[in-house]
Amino acid sequence: MFQKILIANRGEIALRVLRAAKELGIQTVAVHSTADADAMHVRLADESVCIGPPPSRDSYLNIHQIVAACEITGADAVHPGYGFLSENAKFADILAAHNITFIGPSGDHIRIMGDKIEAKRTAKRLGIPVVPGSEGAVSDEKEAKRVAAEIGYPVIIKASAGGGGRGMKVALTEADLEIALQTARTEAGAAFGDDAVYIEKYLQKPRHIEVQIFGDGAGKGVHLGERDCSLQRRHQKVWEEANSPALNAEERSRIGEICANAVANLGYSGAGTIEFLYENGEFYFIEMNTRLQVEHTITEAITGIDLVHEQIRVASGGGLSVTQDDIRFHGHAIECRINAEDPRTFVPSPGTITHFHTPGGLGIRVDSGVYSGYKIPPYYDSLIGKLIVHGRNRVECMMRLRRALDEFVVDGIKTTLPLFRELVGNPDIANGDYDIHWLEKHLAKGE
Ligand code: ADP
Repeated sequence: MFQKILIANRGEIALRVLRAAKELGIQTVAVHSTADADAMHVRLADESVCIGPPPSRDSYLNIHQIVAACEITGADAVHPGYGFLSENAKFADILAAHNITFIGPSGDHIRIMGDKIEAKRTAKRLGIPVVPGSEGAVSDEKEAKRVAAEIGYPVIIKASAGGGGRGMKVALTEADLEIALQTARTEAGAAFGDDAVYIEKYLQKPRHIEVQIFGDGAGKGVHLGERDCSLQRRHQKVWEEANSPALNAEERSRIGEICANAVANLGYSGAGTIEFLYENGEFYFIEMNTRLQVEHTITEAITGIDLVHEQIRVASGGGLSVTQDDIRFHGHAIECRINAEDPRTFVPSPGTITHFHTPGGLGIRVDSGVYSGYKIPPYYDSLIGKLIVHGRNRVECMMRLRRALDEFVVDGIKTTLPLFRELVGNPDIANGDYDIHWLEKHLAKGE
């Protein structure tokens, strides 16, 4: 087992990892920018190292500083959290070259899944259902038209190097295709320095359903059920639930088994998420994330398994603590992402939190790195906390969530709490009746 883990992240996820390491008796090292000297993850870690000025590229994305911090403190492993360097294959390779364990998959697996065309090809080869579309990149308009005619309109043009919803364009008919192709290519080139694009069928009212998987790196793979993350704004998840209100037990185990077998065959190591769009009873792979996700907490709630413990175990060579047969699903869980943003316009609202009071009681978990008097720096993302609620069934979970939202107090800044108070009372949400466009439509109506 590791002696000391350096946590290459900040905010609630740095605390999340720190807690798991402490439970396992492992020393922790926090890294921080000058803007985060007072942050909770710095206060609670056994040691801390300042790695640079506020902009992420000079601190949390600065590989050399982080490797130097490992060497100074003698850390033998790095947990990257999510975001920042968590899906940076070069970082994983550099750590390996310094004999420091990256708590995550191999650089090669990160690389495959970071290239959407390669990821889709790999998924298909592993028996995962994919969205019908071009075999690889499309080179010109003629080829694009041929593929689109074959799969039928509407189609979506996507950047191979894509991420964060950029470089995607929909063409409703052949008349839109030329412009869509050109714009997607230009955007992709500008954003990612790679203008390769591919085409797939555009699904009109899908849900976003993702499967949590784990590989032990030695040919074993398990799944921990799915999460429904259909409530999104600009491709950013807002509210997540496990299990999905849309799936039955047969669909759950069918897609779960496909994913578990795929990661086993890939020889994948650690946590990962296979993301699908789901429409009319069919799953369509869109991407795989090779890291822990923000919403891993709801999977923990319904399985009782600490995913960060598992990540650390697997990375240290100890294997998974569970087999597929040990994994059972209990009740229902919902996560609300509480952002320091205006709940209507979503404009970030940094500043000082004058009063912070979190709800408690049975089935309530709050993961947050903030406290009363904390000043939110303007340099990073606006997530200030996650409210995770568990109940024996969805109805109980929603009742508890409504009560917890009433108790939650964040003064001094604007937050998205009022949005969740509206959502929890909405009949469509109560019925689990929503797709990936529901939230934006609801917000546009100003309901
Ligand atoms: P990114 O990595 O940029 O987030 P994804 O491939 O994960 O890109 O897609 C992001 C979002 O774009 C999806 O959650 C979905 O809302 C939409 N999307 C992607 N592919 C399709 C498709 N074939 N049909 C409909 N919507 C799509």
